[in-house]
Amino acid sequence: MTAPSRAVDESAAADVDVVVIGAGLSGLTAAHRLRQFGARVAVFEAASRVGGRVASARVGGVHVDLGGTFVGPGQDRIVALADEVGVSRFPTYTAGQNVIRWRGQHRRYRGTVPPVGASLLDVGRVQLTLDRLARSVPCGDPAAAPQAAQWDAESLGSWLRRSHASAAARDLIAIAGRTTWGCEPDEISFLHALHYIHQAGGLSAMLDTAGGAQEEHFVEGSHEIAVRLAAGLGDALRLDSPVRRVEADGGEVRVSTDRETVRARAVIVAVPPSLRTRIEFSPALPPVQTQMSQRWPAGVLSKAYAVYDRPFWRDHDLSGQGVSDTGPAFITFDAGPAGPDAPGVLLGFIGGVYAREWDDLPLAERRARALSSFADLFGPKALDATGYIDQRWGAEPWVAGGPTAAPGPGAVVPYASALAAPVGRVLWAGTETASRWTGFMDGAVRAGERAALQARALLSDPSTDDDQTGALR
Ligand SMILES: Cc1cc2nc3c(=O)[nH]c(=O)nc-3n(C[C@H](O)[C@H](O)[C@H](O)COP(=O)(O)OP(=O)(O)OC[C@H]3O[C@@H](n4cnc5c(N)ncnc54)[C@H](O)[C@@H]3O)c2cc1C
Repeated sequence: MTAPSRAVDESAAADVDVVVIGAGLSGLTAAHRLRQFGARVAVFEAASRVGGRVASARVGGVHVDLGGTFVGPGQDRIVALADEVGVSRFPTYTAGQNVIRWRGQHRRYRGTVPPVGASLLDVGRVQLTLDRLARSVPCGDPAAAPQAAQWDAESLGSWLRRSHASAAARDLIAIAGRTTWGCEPDEISFLHALHYIHQAGGLSAMLDTAGGAQEEHFVEGSHEIAVRLAAGLGDALRLDSPVRRVEADGGEVRVSTDRETVRARAVIVAVPPSLRTRIEFSPALPPVQTQMSQRWPAGVLSKAYAVYDRPFWRDHDLSGQGVSDTGPAFITFDAGPAGPDAPGVLLGFIGGVYAREWDDLPLAERRARALSSFADLFGPKALDATGYIDQRWGAEPWVAGGPTAAPGPGAVVPYASALAAPVGRVLWAGTETASRWTGFMDGAVRAGERAALQARALLSDPSTDDDQTGALR
C-alpha cells in the first residue's frame, strides 16, 4: 500500500512549473496531466503513502478497498484514468435478493428501495420530491438556485420534518445520508444535499448498485490507480512532506515543507477543504476562503470488512446487500473478488452517529459489533469470519474524515464559490471542488484535470509570465 519514500533532491526541486499539494487521486491526476502537457511538477504529500481517501489492504488473502471503492455509469473520468493506467473493473455482486432488518423484522427484497411497509409510498414521494427540487440547483453553482437562501437556511432533516415525511422515509434518508456524507440529516445544508443529488445525476444514480454509482469496482483495487500514477511521477513526488506555507510573490509561488522550499509558477492545492486551514498562505487568503474551510468539515464514515471461507449468503439466494435500522453497520455489500472458488467478503459501512461511538472502541469490540450487525442480516454464520479489518477515516490525520465534506446549514450560499475560485497563482483541486460527481473518486479526477488545465492556461498566458522561468509553453 505504501510507495517507498524518496530522498529529497534539492537541486531538482528548486524550480518547477507547478507544485501540487496532496497526492490523493485529485492531486495525482493534476500532476499526471501536467506532465503530459510538458510541465515540470513537484508533488508534496503529507502522509507516508499516496492515495488519501483511497487505500487498500490484504486480509485473509483477499484485497480490500479501505476507502473509495465503487464506480458507476457517468463516472467517465475515473474510468478513463483507470483504463489509462491499466486497472480493470468488475461488476459488484448483485445476484439474489437483498435483506432489510427494519423495526425488528427481517425481510428480503429486490431493487434499491427496501420494503418499509405502509410507508413505501411516502418513501417514493420523498425521493421524487428530492430529485425534482435537486434539478433546480445548477451543478457547480448551488447559490444560483432560485430558492438557494431558503434551502441553505435549513438542514435536510428539518426539510424532511417540514415535508411531513414518515418516520420510515426519514430513517431511510438518514441511512443514505450517513453513507453519502458521513453525517446526520440535521447536520447537512438542505441546499448542499440537493446540489449533491443533482450533480450525481439523481438519487437513483447515486444510490443504486446495478445501473448506479455502486455498479463496479476495481480488480486491483482503487488504490492501485494512485500507486501507478505515483510511480510515473518518480522523484517529483515527496512523501512525508506536509506543506506548511505557501508564499505568493509576484510571478513566483514558494511552497515550503519542514525540509525544503520549492519555487514554482503556480500551485495546485488538492487537499480537502477543512485541511486548507493547516497551510499558512502569504499574503493571507481572502477571508471568504478561510471561512469556507472552517465551515466545510469532513463527515465521518468508517468501513468494516469480514472475510469468510466462502460467500455463504449466496447459497441462500442473497446478494450480500443489506440495510438495517440499527447499527453499527447499517449498509452492507458483497465485496468479494470474482471467481467461483473465491472467499466471501462482506463490507459494512459505519457512519454519522454510529461512527462517533464505534470509532472510539478497541479493535476487538469494533470487530464484535460489526460482525454482530452482519449476523443480524445474514445469520449466525456471519460471526465466523476468518479475517477482519476496519478503517476509521476520522482517525486519519491528513484526511480527517470522509467520504467528503459535509457543510451545515448556512455554509453553502456564502462560501461554495470559494471552493474552486483561483486566488492568483493558487489553484484548487480535490473532489469537493468538482461540479460533477463531487465527493466521489470521479469528482477528484475531474477536479485534478480542471486544475491542470487552469495551470496550463496560467503558465501559457504571457500577461502572467513575469518571471520567465517556466519550461511550459
Ligand atoms: C469510507 C469511504 C468510502 C468511499 N467510497 C467511495 C466509493 O465507493 N466511490 C467513490 O467514487 N468515492 C468514494 N469515496 C470518496 C473518494 O474516496 C474521495 O472522493 C476521493 O478519494 C478524494 O480524493 P481527493 O484527491 O480529492 O482527496 P484526498 O484523497 O483526501 O487527497 C488529499 C491528499 O492531500 C494530503 N494532504 C492533506 N494536507 C496536506 C498538506 N498540508 N501537505 C501535503 N499533503 C496534504 C492527504 O494526505 C491526502 O493524501 C469514499 C471515501 C471514503 C472515506
